[in-house]
Amino acid sequence: MWPFRTSSVVCLACGTELSQSMAREYDKYGDRWDRANKTFEHLCKGCHSDLCPQPRGELEKLLGELEAGNPSQAEFLSRYVATVDDRYGPLEES
Ligand SMILES: [Zn+2]
Repeated sequence: MWPFRTSSVVCLACGTELSQSMAREYDKYGDRWDRANKTFEHLCKGCHSDLCPQPRGELEKLLGELEAGNPSQAEFLSRYVATVDDRYGPLEES
């Protein structure tokens, strides 16, 4: 199906691995055009559409809380999933 191996990324919210071309970039700073010294996080299509309707300020605040204490990526992800699940209800499996 895919003639070339594409680099894959992991969805920030649900941990699904998907090809980068299928992922939605999520920049927690809200500025996707300034790429200097940044790493983008990624969301799968399902989580992206789940999250976007949420008030953005709230999501930023949430991410700020989750980053307190500089957790490892794995820890951050599990905190994120647990917190979103807690506040917004379970993410839909797609
Ligand atoms: Zn996802």
